[in-house]
Amino acid sequence: MPSQPDPLTLSQPDWYEQGLPHIWLPYSQMKTAAPPLAAHSTQGSTITLADGSTLTDGVAAWWTACHGYNHPYIRKAVEKQLSTMPHIMFGGTVHKPALTLAHRLSNMLPGDLERVFFTDSGSVAVEVAMKMAIQYRLNKGENGRTKMLAFKGGYHGDTLATMAVCDPEEGMHHLYGSVLSEHIISPLPVDEKSTARFLSLLEQHAHEITAIITEPLVQGAGGMLFHSPDVLRHIRKAADDHNILLILDEIFTGFGRTGTMFACEQADIVPDIVTVSKALTGGTIPLAATIAQRHVYEAFLSDNPEHALMHGPTFMANPLACACANASLDLFEQEPRLAQVNHINTVLTEALEPCRALPGVKDVRTLGAIGVVELEKIENADALRTKFIQAGVWVRPFRNIVYLTPAFTISDAELLTLTDAIYKVLSS
Ligand SMILES: *Cc1c(COP(=O)(O)O)cnc(C)c1O
Repeated sequence: MPSQPDPLTLSQPDWYEQGLPHIWLPYSQMKTAAPPLAAHSTQGSTITLADGSTLTDGVAAWWTACHGYNHPYIRKAVEKQLSTMPHIMFGGTVHKPALTLAHRLSNMLPGDLERVFFTDSGSVAVEVAMKMAIQYRLNKGENGRTKMLAFKGGYHGDTLATMAVCDPEEGMHHLYGSVLSEHIISPLPVDEKSTARFLSLLEQHAHEITAIITEPLVQGAGGMLFHSPDVLRHIRKAADDHNILLILDEIFTGFGRTGTMFACEQADIVPDIVTVSKALTGGTIPLAATIAQRHVYEAFLSDNPEHALMHGPTFMANPLACACANASLDLFEQEPRLAQVNHINTVLTEALEPCRALPGVKDVRTLGAIGVVELEKIENADALRTKFIQAGVWVRPFRNIVYLTPAFTISDAELLTLTDAIYKVLSS
């Protein structure tokens, strides 16, 4: 049998040659970045490229495709919705897919997180959470409380408001420093020293802080950094002690990735506001939501029209996206997704362990369906990526980590293809 064609050297289809000169790619130095792959189709955990070669996928489309690509059940739900109402404005009309989804999300989330505001991307969901937290104070007449306390290592999006609550140095946003709003950035309280710093920043700034924002259990884009449920409990208590709201950004962790439906369940805490997106539609269509507790929502109920939440994306609550999300939640109910996550964790933990002994490896860690090999340093991420492609896998190293966030439906054989490739590439 001939070996697979090398996707990096083959000639590309016409649409690729014609269109690529007009595309601006994400987070890429366009002058030097390795050219992107021409994808043709996806199924389960397999990506088929335009030249017919295939890659086993370890990333699940930036952690979104939790049921695998192109799941027939989700596809059917979208096709059905497409035939009756692909879209309608949410200003003045509502529809079954959105209301069903809002009802289901509030039933799934802990406490009285029960008021759902739909948007179409994670960054905007975080912006809405920030606007809610700021206006919550204004509506209550608590002036001057417009700041967030956010954490080093955090990532909450790429828009101007959300960049301001990302890690200021590690983040990819320091260039914009002078135009960003100033918030309080604290170390995560993971040990005595960082806890003392966190508490003293709170003490000092509580009068101007409206909310603490954090990713629960895993700082994803910051480098897949894990912390314990105790840290979250501690943050919740500190927020309560200072009458500060807690926003949990579950955009990465939500829908099973850490082993429970939502990461906050593991700490047994309820945030005042939570944001979800990424796996909400099973990675099929963009959709995000900001969900507020009743007491947050009630601060907006007033005879004063200025107390209303002034936000409304054109495509909010898109019926196709909501139909996808409902189908995705059905799959969580009908199929053993959380058990699959636990099984993936067992396989990843065992299969990645040998990497610990490789030169240049600093740490190996797993949580739920997340596996991380942290290196001392990655000199050339593009070169490393190329080696993974040549090994037949789609793995995207970034910062100093090589990580796997596969679909929960991935087979053991596919999972071992991924972990073997990581071991081989890192030892070569
Ligand atoms: C991806 C991500 C975002 C931003 O979502 P976009 O849809 O890319 O705007 C925000 N917060 C977290 C934790 C994320 O992982």
